Amino acid sequence: AIPLVVSIATGLAARAGILVTDRLALESMRTVDVVVFDKTGTLTAGTPEVTALDSTDENRMLRLAAAAESESEHPLARAIVAAAEGRGIRLPEAHDIVTTPGVGVVARVEGHRVSVGGPALLAAAGLAPVAAAQAWSTTGSTVLHVVVDGSTIGAIALDDAVRPTSRQAVAALRERGVDVVMLTGDAEPVAARVAAEVGITRWIAGVRPEDKAAEVARLRADGHRVAMVGDGVNDAPALAGADVGIAIGAGTDVAIASAGVVLAGSDPRAVVSVIDLSRASYRKMV
Ligand code: ADP
Ligand code: MG
Repeated sequence: AIPLVVSIATGLAARAGILVTDRLALESMRTVDVVVFDKTGTLTAGTPEVTALDSTDENRMLRLAAAAESESEHPLARAIVAAAEGRGIRLPEAHDIVTTPGVGVVARVEGHRVSVGGPALLAAAGLAPVAAAQAWSTTGSTVLHVVVDGSTIGAIALDDAVRPTSRQAVAALRERGVDVVMLTGDAEPVAARVAAEVGITRWIAGVRPEDKAAEVARLRADGHRVAMVGDGVNDAPALAGADVGIAIGAGTDVAIASAGVVLAGSDPRAVVSVIDLSRASYRKMV
């Protein structure tokens, strides 16, 4: 039988837009002392927009990149497709699409091998970033490169706004004695900008999906009780490996399936509500 306190707590949570799929997760939340946030789509809105292009043929670059990204549900992929559509570009078909979380996508488009991705893609291909990319990244923009048949044909800058309540969520967690860490697959300058905006002082950038889970495991091995908050396919292993996995409701199905708690409203402050609810409900038990 489910103890009364559990069904009451779960019911209160549901009313606050917090769906508890693993009731042990709700109970564990009261002892969590570190909350690890993913950046993109979790602390940020996850709806980036293309803000600049650098290529000798911008429309061709967008056409090839958007075609390669057309099947991906990654926010950066959607932004590139939206930018192409905004210019009235018709997308050619893409074949043999291979997406690598945290790296990018490669596909065959118009007979060319087209890849789109960040620093990890360039490093793997042994290519240098285009000149404009350097300037963009110092301002904290996400930069993706477009590589066609082994040569870089240009780069795309994207900006993703921080959620208006992320900063309050971070401050409220600190007030409760909870440490906050940000893990992101994005590049260091972008991570630094977002961290400053939301008031986070501990972050790791350029983290591959398997490394997010490894970092959560490392914190747990150090004796911490860890909640991981994320939205993406790339967060799923870390969500599953944390003491409490919390998925953003607007996130991917894989993230939601890997979490014990789902935030219907995508507001990071709900993480604080889960802690408060857990502490209030379970304090007198044991
Ligand atoms: P985060 O951890 O912040 O949610 P991701 O792990 O999803 O970020 O992505 C990290 C980086 O991997 C991105 O900044 C980008 O450089 C690259 N990347 C991931 N998916 C794609 C994609 N579909 N197209 C291009 N680049 C991608
Ligand atoms: Mg994310």
